[in-house]
Amino acid sequence: MKEIRLPDTVPLLPIIDPWSQQDPEGPDSTRVYEFYKNLSEGRLTVQRCKKCRKIFYPPQPACKHCYSTEYEWIDVPKVGEIFSFTAMLLGFPMVFETFAPFVIAIARFGNYPENGVQIAGMMFDVKYEELKIGDKVTWDILRIRGPGEKVRYWYYFKKL
Ligand SMILES: [Zn+2]
Repeated sequence: MKEIRLPDTVPLLPIIDPWSQQDPEGPDSTRVYEFYKNLSEGRLTVQRCKKCRKIFYPPQPACKHCYSTEYEWIDVPKVGEIFSFTAMLLGFPMVFETFAPFVIAIARFGNYPENGVQIAGMMFDVKYEELKIGDKVTWDILRIRGPGEKVRYWYYFKKL
């Protein structure tokens, strides 16, 4: 697990701060709290519809294929393959400018698209020039401390 710390004052628009979705006492109208709870327990999960059996991501309150609200959380395989990637040089959210430049990769896990998922993730420990499409990656948990006593969880990718 990697950990970073946010400054105590982070000017964020509520629409881009998912903290309320990660707070079990907060409004759960989004129905995605379990995604963050799973991250806090070391699990990166996506949703699989119980009606049409399709997998979908990012977390959302209903299946994006058939709109069913019956779904289950399934674990993302630990090894995926880079489908696309780019380097982030400008416009960082929160405190991520301290890692600049870093890579954002889109990786496919499982048997995409039939029984797998495509996910975008940050990569901190590798340079853009060191990557190529098809490289194997794994995901790990990113713990974000702050502002104040808040602890958030996210994930990032590492090159294998
Ligand atoms: Zn569905």
